[in-house]
Parts: sequence; C-alpha cells; structure tokens
Amino acid sequence: MANPALQDGPLDRLAGPLAGRGVEWVGVGCADRGVEFVRGLHHLARSWDGPLALAPPCFEDGARWAERVLAAAGSEPRCTRIGGCCGTGPAHIFALARQVRAEDA
Ligand SMILES: [Zn+2]
Repeated sequence: MANPALQDGPLDRLAGPLAGRGVEWVGVGCADRGVEFVRGLHHLARSWDGPLALAPPCFEDGARWAERVLAAAGSEPRCTRIGGCCGTGPAHIFALARQVRAEDA
C-alpha cells in the first residue's frame, strides 16, 4: 500500500518553509520499509533547492541495499549525503563504501 503522506504530497511542501532558517539539508529516512524512499527523495527535491540526504532503512543484504541506495541517490543530483536508518548495520555501510570506491575507481 502506498504511503498516503507521499500520495497527498506533504513532502512537496514540507521543506520549503525551512529555507532561510539555517537548515543546511533535508532528507528521507524510513518510510514504508524503504519501498518509497526514492519517491520521497524526489518529492522533497520539489520544495527544497539545497542539498538532500537519503538514509533508507535496510531489510535486505548489504550489497543489494547499497546498490539500491546508490541508484536512488544517483537519480537526484543534489543528493549529496547517504546513509541508513532502521535495520542498517556496519556490514551495510561497508557495502556502501565498497560500491562507492568501485564507482570512483
Ligand atoms: Zn528508521
């Protein structure tokens, strides 16, 4: 089932009022066990001109999760911060770092 918060678009309006108040970046964490984090990121991007962050939950193995996080972050050029939320552990962050290094090589 889709997250009604995303369907109704509050994220589209949520970040805009934060502009000019010293907020440096906004981001997406847990939502619907991570299924809709890509949509959430793009919704935020509509109302926020600054840097974005993505820290979705992890309910799968580290390599697969890292691949999905990097693909999602790569779909939004202003997403300059990545991490993990619920379920994310050291193995997931290591997998993320490994894949970033591989992309940079
Ligand atoms: Zn969480």
